This record gives sequence, C-alpha cells and structure tokens, in this order.
Amino acid sequence: MSAFHPVHPLDPVPDLGGPRQPLLSVENLTKHFPLRGGFLGPKPVARAVDGISFSVAKGETLGVVGESGCGKSTTARLLMRLIEPDSGSVTFDGEAVGTRTGLSLRDLRRRMQMVFQDSYASLNPRLTIADSLAFAPMVHGVSRREATEVAGDLLGRVGLDPASFLRRYPHELSGGQRQRVNIARALALHPRLVILDEAVSALDKSVEAQVLNLLVELKNQFDLTYIFISHDLNVVHYIADRVLVMYLGKVAEVGPVEAIYGRPAHPYTRALFSARLSMDPDLRTMAVPLQGDPPNPINPPSGCRFRTRCPHAAPVCAAVEPALLDLGGGQAAACHLHDPQSGHPEAAHAA
Ligand code: SF4
Repeated sequence: MSAFHPVHPLDPVPDLGGPRQPLLSVENLTKHFPLRGGFLGPKPVARAVDGISFSVAKGETLGVVGESGCGKSTTARLLMRLIEPDSGSVTFDGEAVGTRTGLSLRDLRRRMQMVFQDSYASLNPRLTIADSLAFAPMVHGVSRREATEVAGDLLGRVGLDPASFLRRYPHELSGGQRQRVNIARALALHPRLVILDEAVSALDKSVEAQVLNLLVELKNQFDLTYIFISHDLNVVHYIADRVLVMYLGKVAEVGPVEAIYGRPAHPYTRALFSARLSMDPDLRTMAVPLQGDPPNPINPPSGCRFRTRCPHAAPVCAAVEPALLDLGGGQAAACHLHDPQSGHPEAAHAA
C-alpha cells in the first residue's frame, strides 16, 4: 500500500523523501524476451534490458540515448509496468514499485505517465478530445463535469483553445496538435514523472521546437521530472540535464549533459557523438565513426558488448564485463580504459 492517500483524486502527490532522495531509483532491471526455437538446448532469449541501474533526481530531465534496439523503449515500458521485468527493482520516491507492500499499479500511474511517438495511435479515434482528457480523472473518481473542466484547463495549458478543440476528434487535428493533446492527457492526474519516448521525433522541425519549448514550460509549471528518450542527440542536448547512454541492453555511460557531450568517456559515446565532436578541433582526433550494426541481442558478445565495434578492444574486453566506473563529477562509464587495474594495455593513458 502507498504511504499517501490523496483527499481529492487530482490533488498533487506530495514529495515524500525531500530533494536529496531520488524520484526514481532503478536497480539491476532486466527483461529478456523469449524467442521461438531452442528445442534441443536452452530457449533463446533477446536480452533487451540486461541489468541496468540508474536514478533520476527530482526536477531533472534525464535524456536516454542509444541506437535503435539498445533497450531505451523497453526500459520506458518496464518503468511504466506496461511489461513486467524479469528481475530488478524500481523505487519511486522511496516506495517500492510492483511489490506486495509497495506502490500499486494505480498509484504508480498517478505518479508516472508516458507520452509515445505515435500521436494518433495513442488516442482513441472514437473519443472526442474532451472525453480522452477526462477519461483518467473519471476513472480516479472525478465527476464528469469536473473532469471536463480539467480537460478544458489542460488544453489551454498546452496551447490549444478549449472552445475549438474539446469537441473535435483526433483525425481532425494535426500531428503537433495531437501530441499536445497527448501531453495534456499525461498531465491530467498531476504526475510527478513523465516519460517522453521519442515524443517529438515524428513532428516537423518547426513544430518539434514549439513542442519542446512547451515541455520546458510545463515542467516548470507542474514541477515535473522528465525521462526524455530520443535518438536525436541535438534535441537531448537542448532539453536534458543528465544523459544515460545505452548499448545493447546495458548502460554504457551516464553523466551531466555537458560532460557527456563535451568529454565523453566511453568509446561508444564518442563514436555516437563523433559528428558533433568533429566540430571541436581539440576533440577531433577522438572522434571515431560508428561502423556496422550492433550485434544480435540474442547472442551478445562476451565481456564488453561494444568490443566488436570498439577501436580500443583488447583481450580483457572479451574476458571481463566492465563495471560502471565512477569518473567523478557525476559521470560514470563502463569501460576498462578508465580502470588502471583492469589489465587493458591503454588503461593507464586513458585513466
Ligand atoms: Fe572498448 Fe574495451 Fe572499453 Fe569495451 S571495455 S568500450 S571494448 S575499450
């Protein structure tokens, strides 16, 4: 059971642990999807998310980047409990998620909401915008009249005139307008954390900039925390405070946005950002273009998963999986180059 029982369904959920307690703590989160086959041996699995740990501070925007298939979106769905993890724990402001004594799914959905890339598929085509926005408050016990008032207020907050949009259907809206509605709907229960999964990726560049600015405004207005998942490094640079880099279901690197973009420590991060780094003469020699596709997550490389594409790969990289090493200043990278004790021949120079 949650420690908090709101008096009114739309009362904001209060802060429980103070500013120093992370809003979200994730420990060893794992999801392997079973595949067909394996009649004569162990059943094959795709290791979509493979023991990742990270935290999100209150009020920050954590950007999550990585190539497609790295586990970004699976992580988001695990956090929302749209899919069940195989193992690992998630703690929301000190309360365990998904355990018998922790936050229920209903409590979790009040605190955490998600906006998806496909603005049209996210909305029920048979419901008016008013009904779509009023739905969650009504499920939580708010009267239809009040829920419709809330819907109108939310539309105004996302820059859409309630008088002209409340009675429309999703197909009557542009992609940008629909995504504004999805953002409004995500805010209807006053969540504390919003996961934005490629939420601006399908929009035209000019509309994307408007929606990004709106997200920044709403974050301040509603005192929100964001997890912002995107393949677009420029957008993440603009909106994120910290960045988590994922590779093949693992965390490769995490740190403040300036460190990740200015002094990336993991060879994968350097390769991913090489186009940006090559603009800086001091870093140009570090820029290594990323070649080939990531290996198959069904049978990932031993040791470091990036070793098959890494220009610094050494025997130790195949033998030992690198741990996420604290590099100071909030930056951490999972690479033997930064551990002088690792046995990597280049470690002493790079550390
Ligand atoms: Fe490259 Fe080895 Fe570091 Fe992996 S551990 S990123 S293979 S140097």
